[in-house]
Amino acid sequence: MNAHLPVHEPTNALRLVTQAYMSLLLIAFALMPAQFIAYLYFQQDPTLKFENHLFHELAIAVATLEGLFVTYVTWRCYQSSGEPLLRWLTVGFLGFVLVYSPHGAFTEMAHRNIWLFLLYGPASRLAMSILLFVGLLSYNQPSDEVERRSVPRAWLIWIGLFLTMDIAVALIAYSPYAGHPAIRLSMEGGALVFSALNVTAMLIRRLHSPLMVIFGISVAWFGLSSLAFILAAPWNHMWWLAHAIFAGGFFLLSYGVVQAFRTTQSFSTIYSQEEMMARLAESMGETKRALQQLQLSNQRLERLAATDPLTGAGNRRHFIEHISAEIARAKRSGAPLSLLSIDLDHFKDINDSRGHSVGDEVLRAFVRTCLEAIRPYDSVARVGGEEFMVLLPRATLDTACAVAERLRSTIERTAFDVGAHPSVGVTISVGVSEFGADGDTLDEFLTVADHRLYRAKSGGRNRVIVA
Ligand code: GH3
Ligand code: MG
Ligand code: MG
Repeated sequence: MNAHLPVHEPTNALRLVTQAYMSLLLIAFALMPAQFIAYLYFQQDPTLKFENHLFHELAIAVATLEGLFVTYVTWRCYQSSGEPLLRWLTVGFLGFVLVYSPHGAFTEMAHRNIWLFLLYGPASRLAMSILLFVGLLSYNQPSDEVERRSVPRAWLIWIGLFLTMDIAVALIAYSPYAGHPAIRLSMEGGALVFSALNVTAMLIRRLHSPLMVIFGISVAWFGLSSLAFILAAPWNHMWWLAHAIFAGGFFLLSYGVVQAFRTTQSFSTIYSQEEMMARLAESMGETKRALQQLQLSNQRLERLAATDPLTGAGNRRHFIEHISAEIARAKRSGAPLSLLSIDLDHFKDINDSRGHSVGDEVLRAFVRTCLEAIRPYDSVARVGGEEFMVLLPRATLDTACAVAERLRSTIERTAFDVGAHPSVGVTISVGVSEFGADGDTLDEFLTVADHRLYRAKSGGRNRVIVA
């Protein structure tokens, strides 16, 4: 019934509008933290601070643990797919964890050297935003060789580099320039610039696969968190908001990584739902076509397995199955069932005098003639070289005898034009039996017909024997 209902395909205009709406939603979501930043910027009471060291230490500890976990999952994805973007993501997360964790560890130093406490934040965000940007540039590049993926040296060099950064930050913190605004601004601003570059490059390259959308939104949030940090002072609400925005971006990106881990282990081979649906429909169509093909070839195979290739008549195996079914039916309904056992007379002589291929043609012509002589629900089978059987459901012995006699005389009168001159004449001998009257089993049914066929042969051939 559904097939008759009109199908409401969405119009092109609606398609475009919904697509534009979706893009707008994504942009709005990517820029959402900007609203909070603006709100706090204009409404915040500058005296309001939340200086709780334990809370800060706990938050950074959780962030570090989560960062390690995400680094590991990303690394596993990279090991599996070798995608360069995932290599850079792993390095980026690792760098963030190694450079950011001292920010938590040195919380207590806030009173003695505020810079030792503060500078690790912007330094870690700068490192990560640069690495994510480089990662984006490598998007869609060929996968790394398997051997290259797990070389420890490369990873140790990165770890060494990040630890060096930690030392450098400590040195800066204890240098006379530590408090110069340019130091913190250049790092935080650098992180902001690289995040902005990253998102711009994504927009220019029109990367909008689902995981890349997540990547883009996360990077936008990282950038906005840097903006919030620039506008913040330690412990004020903007400062805490900046942490929260960064954490939100990090959660989102880790969601993308875990999604990749649980599916294709690669960022570039995750498809949008629309694409998935299209691919699914396509492969379902293919499966359906293949299934129909299979059914057709199965039918052909079944036909082939049931027929004699030379004459197209049923073969012995199929005929026995068929007889068994007809016997069961006859037993149920009580209707008569008869059988002709037919052998071509002196067939060897035809082969000998006219050649084997003429003999083949005669066999074919015989089957054609036979099919013309019987009813549609009767069947012919070739059960030996030049031996045939005809099954006649609902025919008594008398009816079967009449059919046999008609067939015999037709064959006798027919000059088979088998493409060779002169045309070939042949006769047949037939034995007839009826199920029930001549036996209650398949074996008896067949044997009686065969015996009568032999008697037709020994009685001079070209005849029908019924009893
Ligand atoms: P009879 O009247 O006693 O049946 O004599 P016949 O020559 O028909 O009997 P016989 O069983 O001695 O020979 C059957 C011949 O049928 C022998 C064989 O070469 C031939 N034959 C069997 N199968 C084929 C076939 O597929 N093609 C051809 N051309 N000849 C076949
Ligand atoms: Mg014969
Ligand atoms: Mg024979």
